[in-house]
Amino acid sequence: MRHALLPVLVLLGVLLGGCSNDETVFHTRFFALGTLIEISIYGANPTLAARASEQLEQDLLTLQTSWHAWQPGALSDINAQLASLQVFIPDPDMLPLLQEAHRLSKLSQGLFNPVIGQLIAQWGFHDNPLPIGTLPDSDSIAALVAQAPTVEDISLTDTQLATRNPAVRYDLGAFAKGYAIDRAIEKLREFGIENAIINAGGDLRAIGQHGDRPWRIGIRQPRKSGILASIEIDGDTSVFTSGDYERFFEVDGKRYHHIIDPRSGYPADRTISVTVVHDNAATADAAATALFVAGPESWVEIARSMHIGLVMLIDSNGVIHMNPAMQSRIHFEPDSTAEIKLSEPLS
Ligand code: AMP
Ligand code: MG
Repeated sequence: MRHALLPVLVLLGVLLGGCSNDETVFHTRFFALGTLIEISIYGANPTLAARASEQLEQDLLTLQTSWHAWQPGALSDINAQLASLQVFIPDPDMLPLLQEAHRLSKLSQGLFNPVIGQLIAQWGFHDNPLPIGTLPDSDSIAALVAQAPTVEDISLTDTQLATRNPAVRYDLGAFAKGYAIDRAIEKLREFGIENAIINAGGDLRAIGQHGDRPWRIGIRQPRKSGILASIEIDGDTSVFTSGDYERFFEVDGKRYHHIIDPRSGYPADRTISVTVVHDNAATADAAATALFVAGPESWVEIARSMHIGLVMLIDSNGVIHMNPAMQSRIHFEPDSTAEIKLSEPLS
């Protein structure tokens, strides 16, 4: 199968028990940021909820253009200017996003690396899939890995950007969705909305209350249909999953997926999926990708350095790794027989 994109809704479903009074629920869905966005608002005036949702849809559609790594927009302009190796003044609206990406990349010890756009393009995960049955040229991958683009190669001030590393190109695919959800939640709060969930293709952030019960979030089985487990959340919580089933192709029976280990230039192959629960969606998104790359050996170290408190990682043998705090929050489906390996507490 080439670049199979599984139906987004089943990636990580929200198992909502429903709210006792239907009039207090407003629900809408639309496509943005390359996925299905679902907004559910509780306990708000329906006219206000509809107005806020329309505003969010406009905002997310605008961000989708600005933050795209290769279609024309603010980020692709920045990438073009980086290639010139000159100092330049980027679109000021982009600076907070880039600064946050740099901060998270450093915390992840470079495993979430938002400047490996050229590597990702080599793997055909931008607009140009590789011909069926082929892999990228190994010399080109090796050359990019040797150039080792990292955020440390970029000088980023409050107004200016510059790099001396010609291999640096932004791809914010591992974190922009989370950052966009955080912005959308801020916007809802500006509208006076306190109880809501924004679900972007299975990755989500919830705020406030869901009637008088917690939100129940389903975590999908990575290798078959259905739910592996569920987790109850309330208050202000984000749940993000990175999986090797989201975008991949196969050559000679081996799966090549879209999460690249910047150290090797190849897809990280010790992990199948990682779920991170954290308050802030941008951090949860970047961390899910970083811990996927870290794999079963070093996810604990990277979770600690990123200040993440709740993690579940499924390794390539199907073993489920998690920290004790996660174990106390998660409920596995009765038919789950996977081996569970508990880590030391993360904090
Ligand atoms: P996610 O689904 O959040 O794990 O993001 C995966 C996307 O992030 C990929 O489609 C690439 O665009 C990009 N990406 C892949 N590997 C990395 C990495 N190690 N660090 C940062 N971004 C990455
Ligand atoms: Mg991510």
